[in-house]
Amino acid sequence: MAKVLYIDYERCIGCKACVIGCEECSGHDHLSRMFVDELNPGETVATSPTPCMHCVTPACAESCPVQAIAIADDGTVLSASLEKCIGCKNCTYACPFGIPRVDDVKKVMYKCDMCYDRTSKGRPPMCASVCPTDTIRFVDEHEIKSEPPKEVQFKWDFGGTVIETRTVIGLPDTETNRYGYREGDGVQS
Ligand code: SF4
Ligand code: SF4
Repeated sequence: MAKVLYIDYERCIGCKACVIGCEECSGHDHLSRMFVDELNPGETVATSPTPCMHCVTPACAESCPVQAIAIADDGTVLSASLEKCIGCKNCTYACPFGIPRVDDVKKVMYKCDMCYDRTSKGRPPMCASVCPTDTIRFVDEHEIKSEPPKEVQFKWDFGGTVIETRTVIGLPDTETNRYGYREGDGVQS
């Protein structure tokens, strides 16, 4: 059974432990691959952590002219190969979630690879390990299904182009859309 990154937005307290954990991870050069955004500043204290969404068909890899971005057997979209990447930023422009960054000094792309060095050995990624509220978890897909009913999203509609992701988002109350989320394809109860 494949494991996915499950992020329950309702539990996030905006502490940024995931950002710090990511920065401190060995090999990350103190550059976080995790971002925590305020959703509606002034209206709500809601925050959302965003790593790479690990798209099933990743635009970053498809747009890379030198095939620097490999996809692991379990579907993890890896960071660009240091040897191959030419720092052209095509991946940055192509990603609908705005995830890859390019180190302008080293001319190399970096992004979340879901801590593949850990997850490939069955250990959770660093962000999930340090999150104090269990907002971020590395779980079997069936674990999500066996939880109390909650809307989740794993399909995203970008102007008619639907993208499925291996990062699954647990949504807050979307009935009122009070956090600004939209309901749509891929929302399941
Ligand atoms: S979210 Fe962006 S960087 Fe991550 S796999 Fe999808 S296209 Fe690539
Ligand atoms: S910056 Fe690197 S990984 Fe991104 S598209 Fe260019 S060569 Fe590929």
